[in-house]
Amino acid sequence: MNLPATADVVIIGGGVMGTSTAYHLALKGCRNVLLLERESFFGIQATGKCAGGIRYQFGTEINVRLSLLSLPMLDRFEEELGQPIGLRYCGYLFLLTTEEDVAVFRRNVEMQHRLGVQTEWLEPAQIAEVVPLINLEGVLAGTFHARDGLADPNSVVQGYVSGARRLGAKLLTDVEVTDIRVEGGRVRGVVTNRGEVATPVVVNAAGPWAGVVGEMAGVDLPIVPVRRQIVVTGPMPEVPPDFPFVIDFAQSLYFHREGEGILTGMSNPDEPVGFDQSVDEEWELVHLEAAMKRLPILERAGLASHWAGLYEVSPDAHPILGRIPDVEGFYCIGGFSGHGFMHGPICGLLLAEEVLDGRAHTLDITPLYIDRFQEGREMVEYNVV
Ligand SMILES: Cc1cc2nc3c(=O)[nH]c(=O)nc-3n(C[C@H](O)[C@H](O)[C@H](O)COP(=O)(O)OP(=O)(O)OC[C@H]3O[C@@H](n4cnc5c(N)ncnc54)[C@H](O)[C@@H]3O)c2cc1C
Repeated sequence: MNLPATADVVIIGGGVMGTSTAYHLALKGCRNVLLLERESFFGIQATGKCAGGIRYQFGTEINVRLSLLSLPMLDRFEEELGQPIGLRYCGYLFLLTTEEDVAVFRRNVEMQHRLGVQTEWLEPAQIAEVVPLINLEGVLAGTFHARDGLADPNSVVQGYVSGARRLGAKLLTDVEVTDIRVEGGRVRGVVTNRGEVATPVVVNAAGPWAGVVGEMAGVDLPIVPVRRQIVVTGPMPEVPPDFPFVIDFAQSLYFHREGEGILTGMSNPDEPVGFDQSVDEEWELVHLEAAMKRLPILERAGLASHWAGLYEVSPDAHPILGRIPDVEGFYCIGGFSGHGFMHGPICGLLLAEEVLDGRAHTLDITPLYIDRFQEGREMVEYNVV
């Protein structure tokens, strides 16, 4: 398909954020939506490399509220878009090993209850009943929420791509945006490797590259890439089908069932900012050693695959969502800091409302506006893995 000369809205990036935004803009009647993705496939960067976890258990009200709106959209996804997305409610089990985490999680569980999320507080004996395969050495307590779980990121992206196209949006691969034309303080168009497109609205949905795209519009967006790795094992018949998404919180170490094996990840707290996506073998050894300690049956597992991807990290681990005040017509949907896949559905809708209706109204997103950093309104999300 040729690049059109004009568009009402240009979205840069075809991961979950861009494709959800394109679908929701088209659904709300926006006629001339154009999404540009520089890779040859949609959703193969952060979205395709993610662990697929979806949860209500967060440490700030705004994140719980995003989940309260977004996860039901995943429930309705197949009905609405005709695309199965492998939804599996296995629950998330957080294992807490420090007194500080126990105190913070107690407060967070109270807040979750207030918002209607019925997270359970578990003592070690109860945890042992839920996950007999886990070594509970050092575990002081846990939290479990049965309606947390997993969904398939690639299917979600494909569902939004097909849905947006059915509604008339144009979504193109192999098109890289190299510059954004800004004149008189407002967006005029984008420059790409295949020509220019005139547009009054640009949505930055470039994930880990959101900062680079911000620079194209002369805006300093505090979103940086940080490498995170995953290992998937071969079949492990000992792991029951209802094995939950287990997170050893203090170690940022997690496991869940993936096919017939186990998927595990562990965040390196010393990982520098950067775009390197090669697997760090040294860190993988540290990770696997910690993983085998917590889940001893991993000692018998074979490696099926491993990869590295990039988190798109903001200073307070919350997204930057909405208009960018310095440049009229420039919007951002980025900086989700390791838990964006699950909030893609609602954030695409909220951004579509922000663009078309002047302000998001399904949820007040002003706490997520970029000006929070100048105005000292950052919110710390403790529950980042
Ligand atoms: C290892 C790992 C595990 C994770 N686990 C989870 C999890 O369990 N649950 C969860 O909710 N989240 C998880 N996340 C986070 C989640 O993946 C991200 O928050 C989310 O996918 C971000 O989506 P996105 O669309 O913003 O970014 P992306 O999917 O990266 O999409 C951005 C797109 O923009 C394109 N692009 C960039 N620059 C340009 C340009 N100049 N021109 C054209 N195209 C451009 C890129 O090619 C890319 O496809 C994880 C992330 C990683 C790396």
